[in-house]
Amino acid sequence: MKVFGYGTEAADKDLVSVVFERKDPRAGEIAFKVTYCGVCHSDLHQVRNDWRNTTYPCVPGHEVVGEVTAVGDGVTRFAVGDVIGVGCMVNSCLDCEKCDAGVENYCQGPKGFTATYNGPAKARGENTYGGYTSHFVVREEFAITVPNGYDPRYVGPVLCAGITVYSPMKHWGLEAGKTLGVVGVGGLGHMAIKLGKALGARVVALTRSEGKTDEILKMGADEVVISSDKEQMKSARQSLDLMINTIPVPHDINPYVGLMKSDSTIVIVGNLTNFENVVPGPLVFNRIGIAGSLIGGIKETQEVLDLCAEHDITPSIKMVKMQDINDVLSTLEEGNDGDFRHVIDMQSLHEATDHLERTAATIPDPYRGDVVNRRAS
Ligand SMILES: [Zn+2]
Ligand SMILES: [Zn+2]
Repeated sequence: MKVFGYGTEAADKDLVSVVFERKDPRAGEIAFKVTYCGVCHSDLHQVRNDWRNTTYPCVPGHEVVGEVTAVGDGVTRFAVGDVIGVGCMVNSCLDCEKCDAGVENYCQGPKGFTATYNGPAKARGENTYGGYTSHFVVREEFAITVPNGYDPRYVGPVLCAGITVYSPMKHWGLEAGKTLGVVGVGGLGHMAIKLGKALGARVVALTRSEGKTDEILKMGADEVVISSDKEQMKSARQSLDLMINTIPVPHDINPYVGLMKSDSTIVIVGNLTNFENVVPGPLVFNRIGIAGSLIGGIKETQEVLDLCAEHDITPSIKMVKMQDINDVLSTLEEGNDGDFRHVIDMQSLHEATDHLERTAATIPDPYRGDVVNRRAS
């Protein structure tokens, strides 16, 4: 099928309208019309090649929501008309220890997991295109069921921002009676506050912006600590069992270490490049770990979306038009994204089809990967 979208040819170029073909769903796959797509900070990193792994053309979007339009042979979990979501992965080997354990995000197969866009990075000439597109095709194992009654506009941010902070909470055993610290209250951080509360924890939010305090308390945080205020940081010393650090850029992590209890863990989910000197002394003396965590498996992604529906947790969102994507990315780049997630109303793209027919740049068709594996057969 002919698919319109927005993508870019190079790190220093704006996104422009593009057109390409997605093949009809094969056995085990489903096709859907994209209705909403969240804008993740990773989209900006990938578009600008900040992680030095972008394959162009780059068509971003991994917080994808839509309505099923066709299903391939053997599809059992979905039918035409269902509302579904796709997060950061569209495939994996489904045949390794990690995939068997439901953590496809750490797939040990030869290609690892296939990212929803810009993947698989390791293989040349094999590029996937994400959700900044009119239509999408995915194998059913990687589609998430949207619970009845949960507003589809809110789904996208849960599938990346939500799962990224939820998975470490589960892995490191966050529960009632424990205290979670959330560093950075943006797209990921605000979800961490809400999900931490849903798991029964006490939540302390750390932010540089004093002006955000009231809003953060409204999100449910029990306490707000202004990280630039030495007195406040001092009074929060050794109070946290788990810290989720969502800051997406290199920064000084040392001041946060002092907030951690003995035997606690700081989990990095936003910054993939480097840290300024980490002083190991305080880590050693208090057996504090610094760990990383990458999104989450499909089972856990379904779990967090179900939890959001059950507890009426919604990300703070701002609806935008597909055509305004370059402005949105500039806003993210300037760090002015506030405490909400941009979500593209893809109706803006669907309505522009006539115009796009004449103006969109044709780009190569995306990589489809294999569907043959143990679970599908
Ligand atoms: Zn993301
Ligand atoms: Zn695997």
